[in-house]
Amino acid sequence: HAPDHAPALVIGSGYGAAVAALRLGEAGIRTTVLEMGRLWDTPGPDGTVFCPTGAPDRRSMWFRTRTEAPLATFLWLDVVNKDISPYPGVLDRVRFAEMSVYVGRGVGGGSLVNGGMAVTPRRDYFTEVLPQVDPAEMYDTYFPLARRMLGVNTVDPAWFEATEWYRFSRISRKHAANAGLKTVFVPNVYDFGHMQREAAGQAPRSALAGEVIYGNNHGKRSLDRTYLAAALGTGNVTIETLHRARAVRRQPDGSYVVTADRIDLTGRTVETREISCSRLFLGAGSLGTTELLLRARETGALPDLSERVGTGWGTNGNVMTGRANHMWDTVGANQSTMPVMGIDDWSNAANPVFAEIAPLPTGLEHWISLYLAITRNPERGTFRYDPATDSARLDWTRAQSQVSVASAKKLFDRINLKNATIYRYDLFGGNKTFADDFTYHPLGGCVLGQATDAYGRVRGAPGVYVTDGALIPGSIGVNPFVTITALAERNMARVLATDHAAY
Ligand code: FAD
Repeated sequence: HAPDHAPALVIGSGYGAAVAALRLGEAGIRTTVLEMGRLWDTPGPDGTVFCPTGAPDRRSMWFRTRTEAPLATFLWLDVVNKDISPYPGVLDRVRFAEMSVYVGRGVGGGSLVNGGMAVTPRRDYFTEVLPQVDPAEMYDTYFPLARRMLGVNTVDPAWFEATEWYRFSRISRKHAANAGLKTVFVPNVYDFGHMQREAAGQAPRSALAGEVIYGNNHGKRSLDRTYLAAALGTGNVTIETLHRARAVRRQPDGSYVVTADRIDLTGRTVETREISCSRLFLGAGSLGTTELLLRARETGALPDLSERVGTGWGTNGNVMTGRANHMWDTVGANQSTMPVMGIDDWSNAANPVFAEIAPLPTGLEHWISLYLAITRNPERGTFRYDPATDSARLDWTRAQSQVSVASAKKLFDRINLKNATIYRYDLFGGNKTFADDFTYHPLGGCVLGQATDAYGRVRGAPGVYVTDGALIPGSIGVNPFVTITALAERNMARVLATDHAAY
């Protein structure tokens, strides 16, 4: 039978996809969004939409029998992970041979599980990373637009200085200052008014109840409350959940057909749909978008795609580490899950690092200072199509991660030296002091100006666009979602102004 038709089809519902959906809907174009995860709006038997972090259930992770949290151990004990039953849970850990990538699954993508840190990159580094993009337009128009649309706000500095919930940040700030390092406040999309009401006992707790990687039940302005709500409000946008796009092909008339498996809550494919479209917007994230295009090229479905599809991937130099503080430097049993401060040593040309001061909310004093460092790692990975599994394999070696580790180590050695402190060995498995085997910030794979033109138009497939983190070549120097959002806004403005005619 003839495929269903949508004038515009968007794959995924993370940052890039959500911007595309809203701007298409506003332009009066009927748009269908396909998202492989579920819509997170219905409370479970316990009355909450997302499961408690301390007692994860099937809602926590994407089709697993046991959770796979980033910090696997505490005091070397396997106390963190729990057995669960398979279900389309909100957090996924995609395991490649020598690198794991954490991603969000569901309507809102990464916005459902991330730390909400909303950081605008340094202008000089942005210009270096994306030289095709006019920085004036970005910094005058699209970054402010993205921040406004995402609901970015900042912690009240007076409350920050007084509250027990950010004692962990203040201790890390002190230790950084002792080493001559600068710290900066970092904006967030979590509603700090709500957080203060949580602290005062006037609102249900979420950031102050340990919630983040398995979803926030309150307070977080995730995309389903911002861009995607606005997109649905245009009346032109429909979101189909539990639809996993698998293949893309081009029809003789220049339209595209996407094959998608509709799965049920057990993961079984209950229907395979074909949906045709005049314009296709890929927002399945760095991994998802790259895999779709790589598969299309390698299976011959879209043979004219660039050889650059699958290249230019990076971890944003992510590396985690923990320091052990002295007895008198307590970090507090109570910690907000939303980071609000970073050590900013990016202007140190010899060793640029931006390190988020991360919480470790266990509910008890543990004297640990935890960090997610973003380093400048020039190493890049490449995806290869594996016909046997019909999936993308990532060529990225442990040695490539050591560049990030060495850079982070330089910074934290300096902090440890000045404070007479040491690293923690019990957090990442194998007595490792640096977590070098996972990233939260997958970037690249379909890089702007390489696999696409300067506005995300896919080379060799007119009418197909990349809108997400796959466009950014492996590094942006800060947490990436503000950049992904602003770049998508810029590209959509251009595409809607110039490529509109054929809808
Ligand atoms: P995503 O947000 O990953 O969205 C892609 C969507 O597409 C997903 O919903 C996915 O389910 C769907 N999809 C994938 N493949 C298919 C398919 N074949 N068919 C249908 N749907 C598909 N960034 C920050 O800036 N600040 C932070 O504080 C921060 N903290 C983080 C903490 C964690 C634990 C994690 C995992 C990430 C964090 N990030 C943070 C990173 C940030 O969330 C990502 O950079 C961002 O979500 C990427 O946006 P995107 O539009 O590229 O894709």
